[in-house]
Amino acid sequence: MTLHDLNESLRDCQLCRLSSKRTQVVFGSGNPNASIMFIGEAPGFHEDKQGEPFIGAAGKLLTELLESAGLSRDDVYIGNVIKCRPPDNRDPLPDEIATCKPFLMQQIQLVKPDVICTLGNFAVRTMLGKQLSITKIRGQYFKLEGFHLFPMLHPAAALHQGNFRALIKEDFLKLKSFLTDLKKLPEKPAEQMGLFS
Ligand code: URA
Repeated sequence: MTLHDLNESLRDCQLCRLSSKRTQVVFGSGNPNASIMFIGEAPGFHEDKQGEPFIGAAGKLLTELLESAGLSRDDVYIGNVIKCRPPDNRDPLPDEIATCKPFLMQQIQLVKPDVICTLGNFAVRTMLGKQLSITKIRGQYFKLEGFHLFPMLHPAAALHQGNFRALIKEDFLKLKSFLTDLKKLPEKPAEQMGLFS
């Protein structure tokens, strides 16, 4: 199974109610062999129309933030927790996340990133299976099975709440130094942080 095969297998997905209102499934984009993967929440209006994640206003900010960390969109792989736009951009519902999560996990297994940056509450909660608050957990690294997890604020939150902009910029600068020196940064095993207790 390749990313392409997985994408093809989901094109006509009807596993949840979102299939009836979407224009198309927004699978993911970027380098299929990337060592850094970003996970957002769900496609919005523009993503649903064009079939690519993060191409609206939040996507423009994400591109700028990537550049500040010395990365281009072609260097990384970008996906979302759910692959179809919720009507009126409402929050994804728990059953929609549960239905789509196995496909996100398959994407991760196929890309095999060393670092996964989650963007916002939904992505970090989906990855860790805990109702954590992104404002409390952001900016810390967690060593998980097979990759480092780096929870970040969602760029859309930074667009709407001015004070988040400085924080998300900080997170990307921290990502830059982490990537420069992957081995030397002190790691906090997730268990020690009480994440799995
Ligand atoms: N916000 C997301 O979380 N994902 C997108 O693809 C676009 C906006």
